[in-house]
This record gives sequence, structure tokens and C-alpha cells, in this order.
Amino acid sequence: NPITIAIDGPSGSGKSSVSKEVARRLGLAYLDTGAMYRALTWWCLDRGIDLTDAEAVSWAAQGFPLQISTDPDRPTVQVDGRDISADIRTTDISEQVFHVATNLGVRASLRDQQRQVIAHARRDGAGIVVEGRDITTVIAPDAEHRVLLTASEQARLARRARELFETDDAGAIEATRAQVVGRDAADSTVSAFFEPAPGVVGIDTSELTFAQSVAAVLDTVAA
Ligand code: C5P
Repeated sequence: NPITIAIDGPSGSGKSSVSKEVARRLGLAYLDTGAMYRALTWWCLDRGIDLTDAEAVSWAAQGFPLQISTDPDRPTVQVDGRDISADIRTTDISEQVFHVATNLGVRASLRDQQRQVIAHARRDGAGIVVEGRDITTVIAPDAEHRVLLTASEQARLARRARELFETDDAGAIEATRAQVVGRDAADSTVSAFFEPAPGVVGIDTSELTFAQSVAAVLDTVAA
């Protein structure tokens, strides 16, 4: 029987790398919903759409020519046939994505697209790991497995600092703080990502290595 594994968490919780590895280990498809919000942000900026114009952004979400790969070994994102996998990871996109993510019309459009991807993976394969901010609560509340990955602010800042600056010394952590804390505040309007919803398994990864975090998720799936 096909399964859906829903994984939510804030940035720095280890969500993306853990989700991808769980998908690989279980032979499941993989969907990064954050990449969809990032891709739409990139597309609006590319077309000169004012991100504060809610109606224009909501409209853009409907005709958005997105192609997202669900291969955990090659999770590419294309718009209009152009590979933008790297372009959507810039600081500029990270800082502006909240305009798009807080738009209710956008959320409705992307929700429908995400559910189509899930249905497709369940019909044609073993199932899918879906990661984001509202997967356990809104997108797939009936998923067979639902997990919230959390981590202390300190652990999340250190991970981000290592990603961005390849060091977690005090200077790098301070440089990361404004970005991470600012994005949390913006995102708190669309998700409650520090408290698991009823029935969702919470895993605190603060003290866990990558391998231990993967094992903890696999344990809940096997249980
Ligand atoms: O996971 P990632 O940090 O790449 O997500 C980028 C942004 O997309 C988040 O900061 C959040 O604003 C938004 N997002 C969302 N709902 C999701 C996934 C991401 O609002 N399910």
C-alpha cells in the first residue's frame, strides 16, 4: 500500500536533508513544497511583478509553468523549461518569499498542485515524502505518517551558519540570526511549527546528528 510521510519544521531543523534521505531509503518520491514557494517568488521577480500586489501574485500562481522533479536524488525545479534549482536558494529569494507564502490565493493554488503530486506518487509508486510548513496540518492531514522536526534556536542558527558561511563561529551565528529569526516571524502566520498538531510525532533534532535524525524518522515510520 502506498504511503505518504508528511514532515514539517522550521528552517535549520534538518527537514530537507532528512526528508530526502528518508525518501531514498524507502524508495519513495520526494516533494519540497518550500521550493514551490521559492520558485513562484523567483518567477514573479523575473516577470517584474510587484510582490506586494496581492492580486497580481495570486493571479501569477494560477498560470505558473512549474515543473518539479520528485526524484530525491535529483530534485530539480524548472519554470518554463529553465532550470532554476540554484537561483531559488539565494538570500534575496529567502528574504522575499514571505510575500508569496502569506498570500491566501497562492496557498490555495499551490495546495491543489501539491495534492496532485501526492496523488500521482501514490497511484504510480510506493508513495512520497512531502516536506514543508503546513503538510501535517493542511496539505496531508490524513498522511499515514506525520512528523514535526524541531530544534533549539541555537542549533538552527549553527546549522544555517554552517550552510551559508561554512563555519559556526560567533560572527557567522550573529550574521545568520537576523535572517532566521526574521523568517520565523514571517512564517508564523502560515504555520505553527514548534508545537506538533494532535497525532503528529515531534522529534527534537537539536542534539541529533544527521544519521540519528534520519533513524528517528525511520523509527516512527516502522512503529
Ligand atoms: O523550506 P524553505 O525554507 O525552503 O521554505 C521557503 C519558504 O516557503 C518558507 O520560509 C515559508 O515562507 C514558505 N513555505 C510555506 N509553506 C510550506 C513550505 C514553505 O509557507 N509548506
